[in-house]
Amino acid sequence: MMVHKPIVVYGDPVLLRRAEPVTKIDDDLIRLVKDMQDAMLANFGVGLAAPQLGASLRVIVLDTSDGKDPDQQLVLLNPELIDAHGESVAEEGCLSLPGFVTEMSRAASVVVRGLSIEGKAIEIEAEGLPARALQHEIDHLNGILIIHSLNPLQRDLFERKWKQRQS
Ligand code: ZN
Repeated sequence: MMVHKPIVVYGDPVLLRRAEPVTKIDDDLIRLVKDMQDAMLANFGVGLAAPQLGASLRVIVLDTSDGKDPDQQLVLLNPELIDAHGESVAEEGCLSLPGFVTEMSRAASVVVRGLSIEGKAIEIEAEGLPARALQHEIDHLNGILIIHSLNPLQRDLFERKWKQRQS
């Protein structure tokens, strides 16, 4: 069995905080990235943001291949959305909101800039699932969750269901 760090769920204030930029790449950061990749894989996620492991840092990992294709694996430090085009609506979930899914409107294609784990500047053009995952994970770094897109009625329903689930 794969041992991994538990994923922080809704209710923990770290998820609502704006995460801090990464200023140095050291062993702690490399360990955090490894922990994030392990937790993402163990939970069949396509992406994970550092606040989801309780670290308020601007780090995201992505893998849209279930750990099968190294080319689909991405680590980005201080990612920035620099361009977005089109619109795509699809159902989305979040490992920090287990059991919850909602339709989310996202840009269909994006350009994202950031640093690799080696500290090299990289620019990624993505569409489809990777584009959706990038937008979702960058939202996490800004304290934004998919429930923040719900209208007040849906949000109220969600909060009531969530409370029932927690009790
Ligand atoms: Zn999420």
